[in-house]
Amino acid sequence: MERLGFALVGLGKLSGEQIAPAFKRTSHCRLTALVSGTPKKLKEWGAKYKIPEESRYSYETFDEIAENPDVDIVYIVLPNAMHGEFTIRAAAAGKHVLCEKPMEVSTKKCEQMIAACKKAKRQLAIAYRLQFEPHHLEMIRLARKKEFGKVKLIEASFGFKIGEPGQWRLKHDLSGGGALMDVGIYALQAARYITGEEPIEVSGMETKSDSRKFAEIDESIFWTMRFPSGAMANCGCNYVADDMDRLRVYCEEGWFELQPAYEYSGLKARTSKGPLTIKNVDHFATEMDAFAKNILEGEPTKVPGEEGLADVRVLMAVYESIRKGRPIRVND
Ligand code: NAD
Repeated sequence: MERLGFALVGLGKLSGEQIAPAFKRTSHCRLTALVSGTPKKLKEWGAKYKIPEESRYSYETFDEIAENPDVDIVYIVLPNAMHGEFTIRAAAAGKHVLCEKPMEVSTKKCEQMIAACKKAKRQLAIAYRLQFEPHHLEMIRLARKKEFGKVKLIEASFGFKIGEPGQWRLKHDLSGGGALMDVGIYALQAARYITGEEPIEVSGMETKSDSRKFAEIDESIFWTMRFPSGAMANCGCNYVADDMDRLRVYCEEGWFELQPAYEYSGLKARTSKGPLTIKNVDHFATEMDAFAKNILEGEPTKVPGEEGLADVRVLMAVYESIRKGRPIRVND
């Protein structure tokens, strides 16, 4: 079976705990290069994953990856505000790009990333793992097939208690925002793929219980979205309370839900008719395999840069609504 080579950029928590170990569960992927600012990590990871020295790069030498035939796809797992730079450099090096969520911190950056990949004739996918996950695919199927009638109202929320005060997630120049950018995006994604529509109006409200820790970014937000069909979504996110992790869809003739909904494993599905049994998969292996398969078969990814841009556009509208204290129209 043909396997495409992946370079992992940014060897932090997600790369170390989820992505690197997932390669052994893929059918079309192999880890072939590493990119990090820390020489010690490159050495340790290189030994652990048997990556030769010539396939280990710093952020400065990253562009030399153009000469490495063992790398087909660059997977960017850096702080949000670094996604654009490395996507553009990877595309210029002739590589396809898988970029973590949120795509970037502004719509302008997202547009530049899309343009760079288009120019290089390389695919750009945003790492929306749940769009390949069986529980979420079943929720989408129930909505599309109208198994419980038309979707009317959605409640979607994701949040957790964030630790370490010094981390990049709390610094606006690296994160572009707080809980909304980091985990609220899952609730937004869910509302978009359950309805299959783009919201036309958003209205948000925020609160802060620790104005020192969260001086630069949002801590807790609830926001409402109205869709063209008349469906509405009520979404929430936070950085101060654990276990906010739910997707519930109310339809004309019943409801369906996931709780937990956005974790890496152990998702649980129920409907108004009773519980559903759905298999759990490795989210990262599934997502990487899907992208590799798209490239091998010359098919477009179902999570292109435009999908990332659509989310960032709405996230920015939520912030605008909070700033201005009124609903904001989007996608007009
Ligand atoms: P992390 O802090 O654990 O790792 C970030 C990596 O970037 C580290 O290796 C760090 O050394 C490196 N880095 C380079 N320049 C840096 C700088 N100026 N400041 C801070 N770190 C710098 O973060 P993470 O949790 O691995 O998140 C990385 C990306 O992955 C983010 O975009 C995040 O939103 C995304 N993410 C996605 C999921 C998912 O389920 N898809 C889950 C967690 C994180």
